Amino acid sequence: STPAAIASGIAAGTRRGLLIKGGAALEMLGKVKAVAFDKTGTLTRGRPEVTDIVALDGTEADLLAQAAAVESGSSHPLARAILDAAVARGVAVPAVTEASAISGKAVLGRVGGALLAVGSPRYAAERGPLPADLAGRIAALEGQGKTVVVLLAAGRPRGLIALRDEPREDAVAAIAALRRAGVRPVMLTGDNRRTGDAIAAKLGIDVQAELLPDDKLAAIGRLKAAGPVAMVGDGINDAPALAAASVGIAMGGGTDVALETADAALLNNRATGVAELIGLSRATLANIH
Ligand code: ADP
Ligand code: MG
Repeated sequence: STPAAIASGIAAGTRRGLLIKGGAALEMLGKVKAVAFDKTGTLTRGRPEVTDIVALDGTEADLLAQAAAVESGSSHPLARAILDAAVARGVAVPAVTEASAISGKAVLGRVGGALLAVGSPRYAAERGPLPADLAGRIAALEGQGKTVVVLLAAGRPRGLIALRDEPREDAVAAIAALRRAGVRPVMLTGDNRRTGDAIAAKLGIDVQAELLPDDKLAAIGRLKAAGPVAMVGDGINDAPALAAASVGIAMGGGTDVALETADAALLNNRATGVAELIGLSRATLANIH
């Protein structure tokens, strides 16, 4: 009977490390026409590492120390990477006060009397024009698929830090499996367009970049015009997009908020689990009808 088929479908998922929260979620998975991935932590490892530091004046160590200070109150993956780099290089991190964040853009704080910000090149450019040589270095680093953040003091650029977040080993296979299933994979990212394009080209996926958290919701809405959409994410910022999708899928290694909001979860932490979920749903529906 139908409930029995659904129960056995859900149980089959559990055996493979795929959590499906109920029959409605199981049925919807097989119907999705597109799968939107939040880049960080789903298609990439979500563990960026500092690769380049450019100081316009002063030393790289000073630039790293100031950036790490501003980032010390942030739980963003970029913040963790910058703090790790400071520790690895034996750089003392000064104290920060008045710390705050602008979601999808920057973190701010006062360090030793100076009002500092670490944020995207786009945010830096909003504060004032970037020197041409700095803009050129940023473009070159982004073309390599790196994320660049700019340190500003009183709104003026002081230098940059580039970070690389490697693609997950299973990302290419996960995307290819979706295409074989006739589902359109799309990468959503708050990263800039050049970085997004460089990573997307490696993975063979369409990309929508420079999305603020609200833009990700709008992107899901647009994709839904062509049919049901699954959203795969792992972060606190992803919860609204997970909820807005026809079916939200949390990466197993992600935050509790993402796990709670989602309709399904890849407890085995494999991106290829998305196509497996879709296959499982279709097989279950075939048994019912
Ligand atoms: P993602 O789509 O990768 O989750 P986010 O929306 O979290 O991206 O961030 C988008 C961009 O905003 C980052 O690439 C970075 O330039 C900037 N940003 C966000 N948080 C921080 C932070 N803590 N420090 C520096 N830059 C940040
Ligand atoms: Mg994120």
